[in-house]
Amino acid sequence: MEKDLKNNTRSELSVIITSFKQKTYFADYLFAFIHQKHTADLNKISPIPKPFRAQLAETGYYISALSILKTQTDSDGTTKYLFGLPDGQCIETVRLVDEGRITLCLSTQVGCRMGCRFCATGRLQFQRNLTAAEIVDQIYQIEQAQGPVQNLVYMGMGEPLDNFNQVIRSLEILHDEQGRYFGMRHITLSTCGLTEPIRKLANLKIHPRLAVSIHAADDLLRSQLMPICRKEPLERLMQTLVYYQQRTGRRITIEYCMIDGLNDTPELAGRLALLLSGLKTNVNLIELNDYSGCPYRPSPGSRIKNFAARLKEAGIDTAIRFKRGRSINAACGQLGAEWLSTAKIQEPA
Ligand code: SAH
Ligand code: SF4
Repeated sequence: MEKDLKNNTRSELSVIITSFKQKTYFADYLFAFIHQKHTADLNKISPIPKPFRAQLAETGYYISALSILKTQTDSDGTTKYLFGLPDGQCIETVRLVDEGRITLCLSTQVGCRMGCRFCATGRLQFQRNLTAAEIVDQIYQIEQAQGPVQNLVYMGMGEPLDNFNQVIRSLEILHDEQGRYFGMRHITLSTCGLTEPIRKLANLKIHPRLAVSIHAADDLLRSQLMPICRKEPLERLMQTLVYYQQRTGRRITIEYCMIDGLNDTPELAGRLALLLSGLKTNVNLIELNDYSGCPYRPSPGSRIKNFAARLKEAGIDTAIRFKRGRSINAACGQLGAEWLSTAKIQEPA
């Protein structure tokens, strides 16, 4: 069992408490102090008897906390946080304001193994998975600094489904009514399309909203942009999404990044419409965000509008997502961009 008490679900805490032959309801106190009061000092959990607190500490149990190293704010209200992890690694988290509602864009890994060609994070060498504690603490730290948030998107650095166990554990912790108690309707998990974990997720009891990064409607073009497509062809991905939809009843968001001269013609919009015809979806067209060293350019606005019109004609719910937080490299795909000049770079797959 994990020694970092923040990294345990409430039922896992009960198992720890029981192993010390203590009262199991102490697990509820621990959980509430960690996930509602954000106590990072075992000694401050006063409802638990002092000798037991001391015993926990002596046996190596502790409560981890991230540290805020830097914050940057864009004129559109977007804030980017740089967090230091206990082992000295760093991650970024973005806080977005939209009509008074706050959304946090959470990271799940340091770097990413998937190596998508257009993504700054994908060019950083993968370092490690985040723990569930490090995922949920991004929320707690930002809420303490800037007040409550309403929505969470697992869309920051990393591929959440490549860190399946810790990501699911973070969802369980966040959904617990004795903790932060986030409704699953307010949580979106974005994936590049790993089919086995999507199936596993479909078979669990809790289901976040799912967003899938497609970016191209045929395997050849998609493989150029996203190396994962060589192992996970679109046909298998689409079958898996149908399964997820059958199990959850949820509409699936499709993310499509508009890249100049590559995936943005009306003909390709037609192919995308065909690909999505068996699913209830909404498509988000994202103008490519470039960064120093990015090999692609964003599509011109007129081409994005034409592409959207073509999808709408085919009956697909489509929205164009505007750039947010660009002056501070906080937009989709830009996280980690500022480290590219100094960090180790991943060789293209
Ligand atoms: N790994 C997950 C979630 C993190 S990436 C995923 O790939 O879905 C979050 C979103 O940003 C994805 O849709 C991704 O394709 C998109 N993205 C990556 N690089 C981008 C860029 N340069 N411009 C716009 N969107 C980008
Ligand atoms: Fe990883 Fe997502 Fe970036 Fe691809 S787009 S490299 S999956 S973070």
